Amino acid sequence: MEQVSQEVKHTGIDEVFNLQKTQSLKMRQSPAIQRIALLKKLQNWINEHQEDIRRAIFADFKKPYPEIDISEIFVVSSEIKHAIKNLETWMKPKKVSTPLTMLGSNSYIHYEPKGVCLIISPWNYPFNLAMGPLVSALAAGCTAIIKPSELTPHTAALIRRLVEETFDKAQVAVFEGEVEVAQQLLAKPFDHIFFTGSPSVGKIIMKAAAENLSSVTLELGGKSPAIIDREADIQDAAEKIVWGKFVNCGQTCIAPDYILVQRSIQPAFAEALKVQVAKMYDPSGKGVEKSKDYARIVSVKHLKRLKHLLADAERKGAQIYCGGYVDENECFFEPTILTTVEDNMEVMQEEIFGPILPIVTFDELAEAITYINARPKPLALYAFSKNSDTIKHIFKTTSSGGAVSNDCVLHFLQNELPFGGVNNSGLGKAHGHFGFLAFSNEKAVLQQRIGFTASKPLFPPYGFTGKKII
Ligand code: NAD
Repeated sequence: MEQVSQEVKHTGIDEVFNLQKTQSLKMRQSPAIQRIALLKKLQNWINEHQEDIRRAIFADFKKPYPEIDISEIFVVSSEIKHAIKNLETWMKPKKVSTPLTMLGSNSYIHYEPKGVCLIISPWNYPFNLAMGPLVSALAAGCTAIIKPSELTPHTAALIRRLVEETFDKAQVAVFEGEVEVAQQLLAKPFDHIFFTGSPSVGKIIMKAAAENLSSVTLELGGKSPAIIDREADIQDAAEKIVWGKFVNCGQTCIAPDYILVQRSIQPAFAEALKVQVAKMYDPSGKGVEKSKDYARIVSVKHLKRLKHLLADAERKGAQIYCGGYVDENECFFEPTILTTVEDNMEVMQEEIFGPILPIVTFDELAEAITYINARPKPLALYAFSKNSDTIKHIFKTTSSGGAVSNDCVLHFLQNELPFGGVNNSGLGKAHGHFGFLAFSNEKAVLQQRIGFTASKPLFPPYGFTGKKII
C-alpha cells in the first residue's frame, strides 16, 4: 500500500517537472510583457482574496491581522509592484566595455531564465516566503514548483488554491507535504533551488542540489545580535527592539536574537524593554495572553523546545526579568526577557526563534565585536548608538547578511537592497533586482566579426622564435 502511494506521488512530480521543462524552453525568450501579465494575475488573486489569506494564516498560528497585512500581503504586493516597474530595465542586455586585446568584438551580458525552479518555504511567514521567491522566478522568466511548509497547513492549502486558480501547472505548481515530498522533489534536476529555512536543513538541500549541480539560493537563519552602545537612545532602541523581537511571536529569521548591551546602561535598558512590552502587548494590564496583537507559537513541539531553552537558562543561573508564562494548550509563550545570561546556556548556543530575549553585557565595544566574530556570521546585525563613528566601526569590523543602525528588521522591506545571509546564515540574495538575478543565468555573450579574431597571432604552428608572446 505504502509503495503504491509513493509511486503516485512520484508520477505527479515527474509529470509536472516534464511539463515545466517544456514550458521553460518556451519561456526562454519570453518578453517582459508576458512575465508582467503573470505577475499581474498573481497580484489580482491576492487583491481579491485578502480575507482568505488573513483567515488561513490566522488559523495556522493566530497571527494578528495587522501583522498579516504588513508582513505577508503588503510585502508580496510591494515586491510584485517593484518587479513590474523595473522588469524591462532588469531584462535589458548589459553592454560591457571592450579591452584592447578584444578590439573588433563587442560583448554584453544576457539575462537568461535559469529554467525549472524549486521553491521550498518555511512556516514563519508562510505566504510571504513562498510568494516572494515566486515573484522573482516569474520576473526572471522561470517556471516554479513550490513546496510550502507542512507546519502551516491552512496557508499551504491556500497557496495551492492560489496557484491552481492563477497558473497552468506547466508554469507554476504546488506540492504540499512533509520532508518526504521535499526529498522526492530534490531528486529532480532543477535548474535552481530557492530554499528558505534553517541552516541544518540548508546543508541537506545543498547536498541534494550537488547531485544535479543545481544552483541554490539558501535563505537561512541564525543568531542575529543587537548591540546597544552606551551612547544609544535607550527609549528609542527599546521600542524598536520590542517590536522587532516579539512581532510574529519572535518567530522571525531577522528578529534580534539576543542583546549585547554596555554594562553601565544595562539596568535602564532592561527596564525600558519591560515597560515597552507592557505598553505594546498588555496595555490593559490583564496579561499578554488576552492581547489580540500577539501571535502564538506554531506547534506544541516548538513550544516545548522554547520551554526547554528557558528551563536550561534558569537552571544555569539566568534571571527571568519579565515574562516566562506559558500556556501549552494555547501555544502561548509570553514575551520573556532574560538577564545574567552566560555562554554555556543553550539559549546562547542555538537560534531562539521565539519570544525569549537574552541580555548579555559587555564593558568595551571591542568585546562585543569579538563575541560576534567568534560565532557563525549572522543574518542581520543591529547597532544602536547616537555616535555614527561607533556604528561605522561596528559595521566595518563584523560580517553579517544585513546591517541596520538604530532600527531592526526593516531592511527586509527595502526592496532596493539585497536580502540574505552569509555562510551559515545563507548563500545568495533575494528581493527585487537581486531576486531576479538569483533566477537568471548571466550569460556572457561575445560577438565577433567574420574574418577577424584577436587570437589569430596565437594560432599554431607556434614555431619557436625565442621571443616572449606576453
Ligand atoms: P526548516 O528548515 O525546518 O523547514 C523549511 C522547509 O524545509 C519546510 O518546507 C520543510 O518541509 C523542509 N524540510 C525540512 N526538513 C527537510 C529535509 N530533511 N529535506 C528536505 N526538506 C526539508 O525551517 P522552518 O522551521 O520551517 O523555519 C525556521 C528556520 O527558517 C529558522 O532557522 C529561520 O531563521 C529560517 N528562516 C530564514 C529566513 C530568511 O529569509 N533567511 C526566513 C524565514 C525563516
